Amino acid sequence: MLSARKAVRQMHEYHPPLAGRTGLRLDFNENTEGCSPRVLARIREITADDLARYPEREPVEAIAATHLGLLLEQVLLTNGVDEAIHLLCEAYLEPSDEAVVVTPTFSMYEIFAEATGAKVVRVQCGEDLRFPLEKVLASITSNTKLIAVASPNNPTGGVASREQLLTIAKSAADAALFVDEAYYEFHGKTLMPDVGAVPNLFVARTFSKAYGLAGLRIGILAGPREQMPMVRRVSSPYSVNAVALLALPEALADCEFVASYVEQVKAGRTMLESELRRKGIEWWPSEANFVLMRIGERHREFVTAMRQRGILVRDRSSDPGCDGCVRITLGTSEQTERLLAAFRDVMSELKLRAEVRA
Ligand code: PMP
Repeated sequence: MLSARKAVRQMHEYHPPLAGRTGLRLDFNENTEGCSPRVLARIREITADDLARYPEREPVEAIAATHLGLLLEQVLLTNGVDEAIHLLCEAYLEPSDEAVVVTPTFSMYEIFAEATGAKVVRVQCGEDLRFPLEKVLASITSNTKLIAVASPNNPTGGVASREQLLTIAKSAADAALFVDEAYYEFHGKTLMPDVGAVPNLFVARTFSKAYGLAGLRIGILAGPREQMPMVRRVSSPYSVNAVALLALPEALADCEFVASYVEQVKAGRTMLESELRRKGIEWWPSEANFVLMRIGERHREFVTAMRQRGILVRDRSSDPGCDGCVRITLGTSEQTERLLAAFRDVMSELKLRAEVRA
């Protein structure tokens, strides 16, 4: 009888809760207003011929490399950061190897690492959800071949500093250090200039968040020119589609669009954080476009009550160390006003009910 590989049979299924997402989308850390109008205009100009051809990635990779101040050989466009993670796991992990992930974090590191048959070593953040450098260093063995760190991290919003990440890269010279900068635009600090100088450092960016192109599926993986040919070997030459390739130069060129959106998100983040402080709700400082907060045992009611007010937020209470936690994405200034009004309303409603019960 046909049977999938043992590693695959043992994996859990991952189903992001995408069904019925009507309302203000503050649940998936996407851009909440859509991409730059210049990108949309370019997509509207796409011809039948553009679609009839196999997509040619290299000229757009050259544009991305210039944008990042890197060499063409150091850059690979990918089908989102998801594909970048997949390719690194394929290129570097054998079944006897170990992949280190710092939990709670983005699920795809574990999923793609597990699929290779490698052992996933989970390093849990402390109570404060800060980056646990010492624990990460202690987890490195001669079998460690991949270390994945999201900075800013999802769902915590916390960051690892450049110094911390470079220390890890040095301490695990036989492992690929993958720094996932999916939320870079909201933080502003990067390891991109270290690509090339550090022989085992890979850095990824996405167009799914600040740029508003999650549906197009496009990301960038940057790494040492000596290593990138290995990563390219396991990649399909056509994994980035023609529409995404045509849109990308326009997306990169319209810096004002991203800057204005990021500014609104950051202002919203500060407002939401002040509100949480006022309400005495535990939350974690975030450098991303979302905030993780501990609503407590009524987290499900909270999510439902927000949904009833047309606002989708994400229950993260089953993430390790995130008991009772909910993650809320920030959007435009006007959306933040709506969020805060609904939030206050829901908080007083839940409190009211708690008093009635008591
Ligand atoms: N990395 C992190 C840390 C994320 O939170 C996400 C999206 N949730 C991704 C990568 C996925 O990015 P993409 O859409 O480019 O595959």
